[in-house]
Amino acid sequence: PIYLDYNATTPVDKRVLEKILPYFTEHFGNAASRSHLYGWTAQDAVENARQQIADLIGAEAKEIVFTSGATEANNLAIKGLYELFSTSKNHIITVETEHKAILDVCKHLEKLGCETTYLKPDSAGLISLEQIENAIRPETFLISVMYANNEIGTIQPIREIGALAHKNDILFHTDATQVLGKVAIDVDADNIDLLSLSGHKLYAPKGIGALYIRKKSKASQLIAQIDGGRHERGYRSGTLNVTGIVGLGEACEIAKNELLAENQRLSILRDKLEQGILQNIADVQVNGNIENRLPNLTNISFGGVDGENLLMSFRDIAVSSGSACTSATVEPSYVLKAIGLDDNLAYATIRFSLGKFTTEEEIDFTIKYVKEVVESLR
Ligand code: PLP
Repeated sequence: PIYLDYNATTPVDKRVLEKILPYFTEHFGNAASRSHLYGWTAQDAVENARQQIADLIGAEAKEIVFTSGATEANNLAIKGLYELFSTSKNHIITVETEHKAILDVCKHLEKLGCETTYLKPDSAGLISLEQIENAIRPETFLISVMYANNEIGTIQPIREIGALAHKNDILFHTDATQVLGKVAIDVDADNIDLLSLSGHKLYAPKGIGALYIRKKSKASQLIAQIDGGRHERGYRSGTLNVTGIVGLGEACEIAKNELLAENQRLSILRDKLEQGILQNIADVQVNGNIENRLPNLTNISFGGVDGENLLMSFRDIAVSSGSACTSATVEPSYVLKAIGLDDNLAYATIRFSLGKFTTEEEIDFTIKYVKEVVESLR
């Protein structure tokens, strides 16, 4: 089938793979081995990757901590700060449409005494500064708002939210997993204290990610959640995943060089797909914030069809209904429900996400194919 599920995961870029391979075999050293060339070679590769990642987001290399992915980065950020602040402050502000790797962390902390405000977005998936301002309490230590939503692509006013957080002496975390390589990020200009990212959404391998932690902020005192040999300056113990790290670094450098041109190409293809569906099929709607969203994604609801049948009928295209990360359950997407879709329409919604290897021929085929399938189900 034609792969249109790049927001679930991406294939590894061949240039990334080439860069990684020697670190499985000849350069297999442990980056923590300080007494021989094997260790030094691995450590050099890790530090080079750290710089490549930092360069993509305007950070310093020493502000990057490697994790197993964005789920772990989110856990480290939120649990680590909760533990740091727990005797003084215990309130978090976040959003109903965050990834489960934020929401379930907050739910867990609530059992330990944390209080969370979940802001409700508008029908485009946006939250307002006023909503945040109204939710701030003297006990608020963290605002966590995702940069862009994984299902509907809506991009939040990150810079303004960060500024509001800082004005109130509150730390600001953003889950930017879906944004790296798609939108230019600058942690200074965007007022970000902590940022989560993941390799496998960016043409690097699965099982590698990072947390950016601002050096000159209280965030840098967060409490580690995995203890052991004090790797990563104590923030995250465990022998480093050198191959994953090398891959993530290379993927970030490629993204930095190719971001603008590639995203222009993708948004043209995405618009073609979206217009093709809107113009050729009756009773469809596009979800999310059309004015400001991820360039590679469109989320479309099809009226008058049974949702489960719809997804099952798309044999020739690989797409997603709701988030692949929570696809173990067949509940209607909580993101779509939060922006006001009813259960039926939420079920009958498809996320098409394009990527580096998507071609115009694939988009032309998909438009015709979706029309056929939807009309046969009606
Ligand atoms: N956050 C967001 C917004 C995501 O889309 C995902 C992946 O689907 C994650 C976090 C989880 O990332 P990882 O698979 O690296 O744990």
